[in-house]
Amino acid sequence: MAKRRITIVGGGQSGLQLGNGLLSAGYDVRLVQDRKGDDIRAGKVMSSQCMFNKALSYERELGLNFWDKECPTVDSISFIVPAPDGSGNKAIEWNGLLDKPAQAVDQRVKFPRWMQELEKRGGTIEYKQATLADLDKYAADSDLVIVAAGKGDIVKIFERDAQKSQFDAPQRALALTYVKGLVPRPQHSAVSFNLIPGVGEYFVFPSLTTTGPCEIMVLEGVPGGPMDCWADVKTPEQHLAKSKWILETFLPWEAERAKNVQLTDANGILSGRFAPTVRKPIAKLPSGKAAFGMADVVVLNDPITGQGSNNASKCAKIYLDAIVAHGSKPFDQAWMQATFDRFWDYVQYVTGWTNALLQPPPPHVLNIMGAAQGIPVLAKRIANCFDEPLDLFPWFAVPEEAEKYLKSLAA
Ligand SMILES: Cc1cc2nc3c(=O)[nH]c(=O)nc-3n(C[C@H](O)[C@H](O)[C@H](O)COP(=O)(O)OP(=O)(O)OC[C@H]3O[C@@H](n4cnc5c(N)ncnc54)[C@H](O)[C@@H]3O)c2cc1C
Repeated sequence: MAKRRITIVGGGQSGLQLGNGLLSAGYDVRLVQDRKGDDIRAGKVMSSQCMFNKALSYERELGLNFWDKECPTVDSISFIVPAPDGSGNKAIEWNGLLDKPAQAVDQRVKFPRWMQELEKRGGTIEYKQATLADLDKYAADSDLVIVAAGKGDIVKIFERDAQKSQFDAPQRALALTYVKGLVPRPQHSAVSFNLIPGVGEYFVFPSLTTTGPCEIMVLEGVPGGPMDCWADVKTPEQHLAKSKWILETFLPWEAERAKNVQLTDANGILSGRFAPTVRKPIAKLPSGKAAFGMADVVVLNDPITGQGSNNASKCAKIYLDAIVAHGSKPFDQAWMQATFDRFWDYVQYVTGWTNALLQPPPPHVLNIMGAAQGIPVLAKRIANCFDEPLDLFPWFAVPEEAEKYLKSLAA
């Protein structure tokens, strides 16, 4: 029997993970990618891509974990809120160990290597920026066309789901600064997450980039506030200086760690913004056929909770299993909707949590985050929720449940 042919448009976290998995499962895979591996490697950073154990385990299952030895581990989450009086002290500080380490392999390193792997496993890569007309062409000679194009323009063919999308505008001005020379934390490494109420967030953690280990600074500014400050920044040097200015102004302990940092490379910077958006998973093509969206195409969240690559890996796992389980039956729209619904059953909670963090925290969340300072078991539980966000529910979302849980911890 002829192999089933799957075309995947977009070779990022989800598309490459799914494509490699499908090849190992005996499918014929065509990947359509808008840039060559060398161009990705030499280009600008795209993400901070911190991935936690469960998402990493799906890469390991497919033999795609090529950086376990070189990539520094992220062993914990630390959470800090500066004192509101401007004294330079901390109002809240705690650290929770992760049960299993996280890792952040620069996508400039990961994607080109996974593209090579895809070809090694027998897949083909067509280099082009796919258009709607291309999708129709692929639909004519494929059993299934999946669009995994992240934030690419083509995703606009998937209708925004107004019911599932809480926002219609960007909620943060985002920036990334990849550096070397940051002073490591004592004891163990961490995502050091600093929340500056009303201003924004700063988090920093170790990673592996094109030139070896580094640290990634992620800056999230409330629109219109002092951290929404990238419009006049024109050069990499100015970008680094602006990043350091934010730390010096709001987070002196982080400024101290970053005193001697240098950029990893002139492309180790990024700034921009986007509206968190949920889209309907099926796009009708001019021919009447359908294309199926995955990962960021269908559920695009703000990076504040560091979940996008994790979601992409989990989505790739769900789609791979659903494709294989479907055997030789047609991938019709009912199958597409049911497969997306399986992803949504999970990711709706991640979206809810992420969207909640973009807004001023309600009193019960402030209570939880403050209490964790004196209750190490709570700090550890919150930290591990970055790996398994479902464990946040219902106690993180529902005030009465939060109260019950905090009372039980105190007892
Ligand atoms: C500032 C920032 C920080 C982040 N930090 C984290 C983090 O710490 N942890 C985390 O889990 N997530 C993080 N994310 C999110 C994460 O990077 C994404 O959610 C994840 O990469 C999405 O995977 P994907 O497969 O959907 O899309 P992507 O990985 O974006 O891949 C899409 C691919 O499709 C290609 N493409 C686009 N259009 C076309 C076209 N028309 N034809 C052909 N190819 C096309 C692109 O070039 C790209 O290679 C961050 C994102 C940002 C912006």
